[in-house]
Order: sequence, then structure tokens, then C-alpha cells
Amino acid sequence: MNWENFCEGIREIYEEIKDDVGGNLADYIPQLASADPNLFGISVTSLDGKVFNIGNTDTRFCIQSCSKPMIYAMILKEHGAEKVAQHIGREPSGKMFNSLDFNSENKPHNPLINAGAIMAASLVKPNERSDKRYDHIIKEWKRVLGSQEISFDNSVFLSERNTASRNYALSHLMMENGIFPNNSQIEDTLQLYFQSCSITMTTQELSKYAAILANSGKSLDDVECLIEPQIVKDVLCVMYSSGMYDYSGRWSYDIGIPAKSGVSGCIFAVIPNVCGISIFSPPLDNMGNSVK
Ligand code: GLN
Repeated sequence: MNWENFCEGIREIYEEIKDDVGGNLADYIPQLASADPNLFGISVTSLDGKVFNIGNTDTRFCIQSCSKPMIYAMILKEHGAEKVAQHIGREPSGKMFNSLDFNSENKPHNPLINAGAIMAASLVKPNERSDKRYDHIIKEWKRVLGSQEISFDNSVFLSERNTASRNYALSHLMMENGIFPNNSQIEDTLQLYFQSCSITMTTQELSKYAAILANSGKSLDDVECLIEPQIVKDVLCVMYSSGMYDYSGRWSYDIGIPAKSGVSGCIFAVIPNVCGISIFSPPLDNMGNSVK
């Protein structure tokens, strides 16, 4: 399909749904409840680096669960798939993203729900100091996106840390299940998890990340391998089966592309060998995905 026609199709969809006022802001993290519900932006990045933007595509938002595929990719690179699988499963959960539920081996179902992402955070440079571990994550985003603009929302971080009873409960259950790596500290692990959810970017940056995944991990000038193809494949597989929370089955059936959503109202979707798409609009449906 030709790029101009494709962008025109996106523009039509944008116009058609921009006045939809359905959905609710995530209010279990108080800072997210103060987001502007009218923000709406869509960015598309092609594999050769063309970008189409419509709406609020310069607005920075915290990426929340859209951080999870990146953390999963980082731990696959650091430890290899076999070691990671000793701590995290790869099946859809069929439950809400923050459900207190584990697989038959007492492990999190997959790395894209809260339990699995907390476990994944525990595997990021586990023997380093907490400042180095956060640095490692934000530098990885900057390296892959080739941008120093990637930032951090401290208010969201504090807000989330102060209202995290459920994520603490999940972590204590996993500690009791004995599946954290040796010497993991719940407090340090959760801080790193909240920090990675509080990283901020725009739809332009997130669509570039999606485009790099669509390009098998290669930079969009095709010069550099930014993420190994095998890791891209592993990440896209879990995004395809589990990226949209408890809507993942219907999403795969109806839409059929790997995607990930976050409770701030962002989604990024990967069309392999074609493009990356990112959408931001804060009101959520009752599964936790942006309505728009
Ligand atoms: N930080 C959020 C939480 O732990 C992430 C959830 C999400 O985006 N679905 O609840």
C-alpha cells in the first residue's frame, strides 16, 4: 500500500473517533487521574523512517506497561531465554493485568502483566546498585531510540509508589513462592518497576520503537542491529498473545498484530516489515486499554 493512502486512512480514523468521550481515567494511580482526557495523538513510523503525526503527538506521557516489552528484551539479552523462563512464563493469563494469580509452577504467567514485569525488573542487573539499574534502563531506551529526550515523571513515580498495595501483595506472594532470583529485595525491585513505568516519551518516540521492532530490531537506516532478531521475535510473540491484558485474545483475533498498552492510555502496535504505530488517549475501557 502507498504511504500517502495509508496516512489518509489513519487521518480518517482519527477524525471519526476523536470526539468519542467513552472510558475513564486510571484513578488507582492518583497522578494518572489528573491527565487531560481530551489528549489524543497517533504517530506512525515507516521502516525507512517516514513519520506521520496527527493530534497531540508532542505530548509526553508516562509509558506505564508499554515499558514491559523493553524490560523483557533487556533481561533476555542479559540472561538468555532459558534462565528467564525459570522465573517467568510465556502464556496469556486470561486475567486482569494486576491479578493475584500465577501459573501451575507458581510463576507469573507472562512478562507483560504486573507480576511478570515485577519479576523481570528483579532480573535487570540484579547485583548492581539501584541507581545503576535505573540508569541501565533509561540508557537502553535512549540507545535504541537514538534520542536523549526520553525522560522521567517523578510525580507519577511517587504517586504510584504510594498507592501500590496490590503490587506489594504480588511481590510478597512471589517471594513466598520462592521464584525471585537470590538476594532480591522487594523494595528495590518495586522501585525499579515503578521507575520504568514512569519513563516518559511521545507517540513519535514510541512509534519509532514499534518500527524498530517491525524492522527485526534494525535501525531505520538499516545500518545497525539495535536489538537481536531472536529477542525481537520472543518479544513480539508475547505481545501478540498477551500485550492487551485480558483483551489480548479478541485483539489478536480482530486486529491480529502484536501490541502493548499502558494504563496512561498509550498503545504501541507493530506491523512486522511495514511500520510501527503509537496512540495516546488517556480514557481507558474496563480492561485497562485506551478506548480510542
Ligand atoms: N504501573 C502500572 C501498575 O503497576 C502499570 C499497569 C499498566 O500499565 N497496565 O499497575
